[in-house]
Amino acid sequence: MEALMDSAKKKLKLIYGYDQFRKGQEEIIQSVLSKQRTLGIMPTGGGKSICYQIPAFILPGVTIVISPLISLMKDQVDALTELNMAATYINSSLSTQEEKQRYEGIRNGTYKLVYVAPERIEHSSFQSLIEQVDVSLIAIDEAHCLSQWGHDFRPSYLSIPKWVDSLKGAPTVLALTATATKQVQEDLQTYLSVSDEHTVITGFSRHNLRFQVKKGIDKRDFLLSYLNSRKNESGIIYTSTRKEVESISEWLTMKQIEVVAYHGGMSEEKRIKAQEDFTHDRSPVIVATNAFGMGIDKSNVRYVIHYNMPRTIEAYYQEAGRAGRDGESSECILLFSPQDIRTQSFLIEQSLLNEERMKHEYEKLQQMTSFCHTERCLQQYLLDYFGDRSNDTCGRCSNCLKEGEKLDRTKEAQMVFSCIKRVREKFGKTIISQILIGSSNQKIKQFRFQELPTYGLLNKWNQKQVAQLIDLLIAEEYIAPTGSSYPTLTLTEKVLPVLKGEKNIYVFAEKEH
Ligand code: ADP
Repeated sequence: MEALMDSAKKKLKLIYGYDQFRKGQEEIIQSVLSKQRTLGIMPTGGGKSICYQIPAFILPGVTIVISPLISLMKDQVDALTELNMAATYINSSLSTQEEKQRYEGIRNGTYKLVYVAPERIEHSSFQSLIEQVDVSLIAIDEAHCLSQWGHDFRPSYLSIPKWVDSLKGAPTVLALTATATKQVQEDLQTYLSVSDEHTVITGFSRHNLRFQVKKGIDKRDFLLSYLNSRKNESGIIYTSTRKEVESISEWLTMKQIEVVAYHGGMSEEKRIKAQEDFTHDRSPVIVATNAFGMGIDKSNVRYVIHYNMPRTIEAYYQEAGRAGRDGESSECILLFSPQDIRTQSFLIEQSLLNEERMKHEYEKLQQMTSFCHTERCLQQYLLDYFGDRSNDTCGRCSNCLKEGEKLDRTKEAQMVFSCIKRVREKFGKTIISQILIGSSNQKIKQFRFQELPTYGLLNKWNQKQVAQLIDLLIAEEYIAPTGSSYPTLTLTEKVLPVLKGEKNIYVFAEKEH
């Protein structure tokens, strides 16, 4: 093994010019070289490609890389060819003639690395080709696509485990992803028979990223002044709808800011052009939906702005993580407005999912929303979510750097808790807030809530202020929303010490914008 690892290190230097493996790379490569089925979970930009490329050049046969990123295959293969590495790719963009030639090359052992799209392994011609060659390793990139709990499930991935198991010579399997939720991890371990011991999860923390959440601002004003202050720097602006991509990019162009637009409704030709203009720095800024980005290898993105809140933390971290892949300090800014929750809820409702899935999507949306309301370190919140627990705060995010007065809101929080209890945990944020401010609307009268002892306890506050406090208490897990689009509020065990007066709740005074 030592000799193999020595050879791996030499290749790292010789081929890529790097002196050291990054965190996780060495363990993954070692596990693969000792023929263990391995799962590698590493953040975007963590250096996953090397984890299968180096073994590919050390192991005797060919390595098949399954990747959904057709656009990236060519770039990867070009880069490898540049390094004098025998690699090729097979996907639907090839002509029949090209495909035939490449199949021939694979049969003759010309290539060490072959990239294929997942659909390809269902083709019988490809299956019989592979039966004729010696396959050492199957690398599954973006492996979370295999899990229905992942944010990017692809049915074509489902045939991979069976196919892999049917291959003669039992090639090693390496699954790689940047999505590390427990559920996805367990799915991948089960489907691909990977043990805990050979699951390598590396630090998700990205020390050069500065996370910021901005609430209650005029998003367009912010965007304009931000972009004007960062001329010539490369950035991505994500919105949740195609329509918004169009309107924002047109508006920015009108304001003399050079941007390109990208979304799934554009022609392929236009999309490719936009992507290339952006990756080759001809156009510094791209306004896009989440259709843009999976596998984009652009290292100098200085900022990623989420004009709208995405639906899940996984999607957010992956998109935001496209900033600063070169390690230089970069910003990830999320512009939150309550409308974003409604947009995402609408999209969930439209998605025709079964009840269980729908509930799951709402839970994910709630976790994303809580990220926008938490007062904890944002980096820590994200790492916690991915199971990469740490007590360190980043000292860079908008919460760590928050200025302003810290207010003791223990009493008010206690009132919220007892109000929730009084209505037997059967009502949502709006009604709870209305009871506490002493509203006398129809619904309050109908349920005779004005007779509750908690009625009007916060009559100096307005409904929005109470709702904000509730949002924070949800984010800090004192209150759990249950149900889907109009969740009812229930209390968690965390409220006990607060009710007993053993723990205080502090809130930063929101600065006026
Ligand atoms: P991922 O697929 O995990 O998003 P990549 O494989 O594209 O990440 O790698 C991201 C960047 O990090 C690439 O530019 C790559 O060359 C670089 N990189 C990978 N491993 C190392 C290393 N050991 N030392 C320095 N740079 C590395």
